Formats: sequence, structure tokens, C-alpha cells
Amino acid sequence: MSGEDPAWTPLKLIQWTAEFFEKKGIPNPRLDAELLLAHVLRCKRIDLYTGHEKRIAEKDLAKYKDLIRRRAAREPLQYIIGETEFWGLKIKVTPDVLIPRPETELLVEEAIPVMGERAGVRGQILDIGTGSGCIAIALAKNLPGTKIVATDISKEALSLARENAELNGVVDRIEFVLADIAPWRVFEAEGRRFDLIVSNPPYIPTGDFPHLQPEVRDFEPRKALDGGLDGLTVIRKILEEAPPRIGPEGFLILEAGEGHAALLKEKSQSIRFLSVKKDYGGTERILTFKKA
Ligand code: GLN
Repeated sequence: MSGEDPAWTPLKLIQWTAEFFEKKGIPNPRLDAELLLAHVLRCKRIDLYTGHEKRIAEKDLAKYKDLIRRRAAREPLQYIIGETEFWGLKIKVTPDVLIPRPETELLVEEAIPVMGERAGVRGQILDIGTGSGCIAIALAKNLPGTKIVATDISKEALSLARENAELNGVVDRIEFVLADIAPWRVFEAEGRRFDLIVSNPPYIPTGDFPHLQPEVRDFEPRKALDGGLDGLTVIRKILEEAPPRIGPEGFLILEAGEGHAALLKEKSQSIRFLSVKKDYGGTERILTFKKA
């Protein structure tokens, strides 16, 4: 591609980039080409085709080239664009936070109905390792009466999560707390119990990292992904520490990795395993536990 070529229209540019991405092994070459161009031209993806004969301004072309280079180096599209969509909501993302995944929407889908009548004024929810805030924000949006505590070990993540909560109009209902797992002692001192605790903790076994796709391995925060030797270090901790802080008939819903559900079903004595939901690829992904 040459910046001097006067004939670059959106359509030609998309075609060129899609081929280039394809050669580089980028998973959705055309879609990514379209999304990057729409980002540069500040328009919707669909609008690229209505104005497909328009010439692209030199300045935009230069910007687009830079973004193509970044994506070809396998930087995730969402970090380049700076946002993603989760549960129909716009969520800002930076390399300080995990990019919200469609699988995690399944966790939200499981979590909303279990709140039942407690979705009213007294509903108390804890989101452990909130990252971008996606789960806490989606729950706040869908369970209007509830109060949510969202923790994270990273203050950069928390500040972005707060920004996302503001953008989505739910910042008043979410308390953001810097903590490794959760400030259990504070909760205990306050006599605080939750109706629902949710978490998408780090659960990738350390040994799997060399085989991960470069977008994940080289760009997403290791802290948000690495679950130790068998991937279960953080999950075990949550299963041990969380149950005392869950109220009667309360729930714990966790996202977990491949093969984890089988290991965890019988594991916990202080909370009863209730059900597991498979993701789109058939992996047992979302585990629900219930306090007696
Ligand atoms: N809760 C956030 C998410 O689901 C972050 C999870 C994490 O960093 N492990 O995307």
C-alpha cells in the first residue's frame, strides 16, 4: 500500500488489508480490516460500504496504516480500538485488563436469574477480579436494586472499571475495592454477607502459555490469566474463602477452564455444587454453587 496512491477507497483498502491479514495468519482478516477502518473514519462498519467509492484522506490513511501494522503484530483489535462490547454494553479496554469474552456473558446469564427476589433493594453482590468491570456493570444494569462490590488486585484495572461504570451509568451502585481476592476481614468485621459472589478468575495452567494465541499470550495481562500449575490456584482460594461470606440460599458462580468442572464438582465442603453450563465450544465453563 502506498500513501501516494490517490485511488484508495474504503472497499479497496479493506480488500488489500484482508489479504494482508490473511497472509499474516490473523483469525478474522476481513472483519478486522473493516473494524479498524471504521474506527479511523469514525463511522459504523456498515457505512464503509455506503461510501465505498469515497477517497480516503491522507491523514486517515497514515493512521490506518499504523493500526494495520499493530494488528499484524498480533496486538488484539480491542486494545487498538480501545473498546469492546459485552452484554450489549460498551466497555473500554486497555492492556491493564482482560478483554471481556463471550463465554463470560454466559456467567452473567446464569447470575441474573439466581438473584430472584433479592434483585430488590437488599441484593448484595461481590465480583472478584473485576478487570474492566464488565461483569459487575452488566449485573448492575440488569439487577437495578442491587449493590455491588467489585475487587481487583490492580489499581489500573479498578480505575478503568470505575470509568466503565460511569460510562454505563451505574457507578453509584458499585463500590470498587483494591484487594487480592477480597477484603474478607473487613467484610467479617462489618458482618457483611453476599447473596451472590461471582468471579472470572485467572484459570489458565502456567504450562499452557506457550500454546496460547499471541494476542492473549503477548498482550493480555498475565495476572488476569495465569492460574498456576493446574490453573486452579485462585479458584481453590475462592472456594475456600468465599462460602463463609455468602448468606443463606446465596450463590457462588465461577468461570473455569477445560477439565476444571470435573475436579471441582465434589470439592467444596462448605458450599454445594449445583450445576455447570457449557460454553459455545462444549467446554464445561460456568460453575454454580449454592449455600445451604
Ligand atoms: N472480570 C473480568 C472479566 O471477566 C476480568 C477477569 C480477569 O481479569 N480474570 O473479563
